[in-house]
Amino acid sequence: MSQPAAKKIQAIRGMNDLLPGDSPRWQFFEGKVRQLMARYGFDEIRTPIVEQTALFARSIGEVTDIVEKEMYTFEDRNGDSLTLRPEGTASCVRAAMEHGLLHNQTQRLWYQGPMFRHERPQKGRYRQFHQVGVETYGFEGPDVDAEVILLSARLWQELGLTQHVTLELNSLGSAEARAAYRETLVDYFEQHREILDEDSLRRLSSNPLRILDSKNPAMAEMLENAPRLMDHLDQESREHFEQLKTMLDAAGIHYVINPRLVRGLDYYCRTVFEWTTQALGSQGTVCAGGRYDGLVEQLGGKPTPAVGFAMGIERLILLLDTLQLVPEEALGGCDVYLLPMDEAATLTALTLAEQLRSQLPELRLQLHCGGGSFKSRMKKADKSGATIALLIGEDERQTDAVTLKFLREEREQQRHPQAALPERLQDLIA
Ligand code: ATP
Ligand code: MG
Repeated sequence: MSQPAAKKIQAIRGMNDLLPGDSPRWQFFEGKVRQLMARYGFDEIRTPIVEQTALFARSIGEVTDIVEKEMYTFEDRNGDSLTLRPEGTASCVRAAMEHGLLHNQTQRLWYQGPMFRHERPQKGRYRQFHQVGVETYGFEGPDVDAEVILLSARLWQELGLTQHVTLELNSLGSAEARAAYRETLVDYFEQHREILDEDSLRRLSSNPLRILDSKNPAMAEMLENAPRLMDHLDQESREHFEQLKTMLDAAGIHYVINPRLVRGLDYYCRTVFEWTTQALGSQGTVCAGGRYDGLVEQLGGKPTPAVGFAMGIERLILLLDTLQLVPEEALGGCDVYLLPMDEAATLTALTLAEQLRSQLPELRLQLHCGGGSFKSRMKKADKSGATIALLIGEDERQTDAVTLKFLREEREQQRHPQAALPERLQDLIA
């Protein structure tokens, strides 16, 4: 009896494969980020993808969207509750504390990697997505607040995105000012209870500031008239914010004050900001961050001022693609395709390929493998994207020569002694 065809296993919804045709864009972006971090004196940190669930519950906040409904939480074989990290800041703080990085010293760190949130997958929103983030520790600011914003602004500049993104800025004040404002706000919402939607009613007692973030048009006018946190800032936070604005002005960074920007995570205070774009529809925030001076202490460390941000790599790649900003030469491929034209030439070709790679470390050379007819060999040469094919047949082998064919231009083919190749290729590829 014939077996039923096995059902193919597919990837998990909202978790993407990065295919060879796409990875050059990612490498281009990641290359820019790596250079930039070095230029600003930030050091990379890599932490595990899985942490104890309590780390996120205690840092991000029990009543945030992330902790309430988006985390991938499971019991491991020992019965411990573990969670796939939904963001990078909590892990960064944990690691920095655990290894004494916050002890009498400042830190400027960056990270990159996958994050996991159980959200409804759509364009620009996935269940496994990737972030680049920076975190600084031990600086009161606002100089360092300006510094991380300038770092992000320079990335947009490097990528050609400056005209396509807007910086939105707000201050949440101190924890005390925020608590006082919270009461004022709850009073106001109570007076407009009939306008609040279900989500907002639920948040009224747990996280009323988040109501300000609602996109529900029925609540828009009521929210527009709500008391503003900006008018309830403590004196120090007000000065902090004024100074930050002066620094950004001096650096020529444009921003829009958005008094309703509160961010979804509980640990923020003072500076919060988002970089948004119109070019991606409703998933328009490409980078978001702010100050979180209370978090280290909340997780059991000494009071440590901190500020950072995270950017969504998928959204930025989408944006670069939409605006066609990835340069042609960053899109990968190879320069040279080396073809043994018969069985006997295989060994010569293999040896020559290795010699050329040793002599020209920059050269991207693909060796034809797997035999085939003349026609199929030439087809593969073309498909490789190479601009030059090097052919070794019987004739060439007898005379230690190579035939050089131009694949992308009408140009007479040439024959060169193998020994002259490095120099010839150097000229042609440069
Ligand atoms: P959003 O309002 O879009 O849900 P967020 O406030 O939850 O974003 P943060 O936790 O601040 O986002 O994460 C920083 C950045 O990471 C976002 O601005 C976005 O670019 C990206 N990001 C967040 N969630 C996702 C996701 N599910 N898929 C892809 N990118 C994401
Ligand atoms: Mg979200």
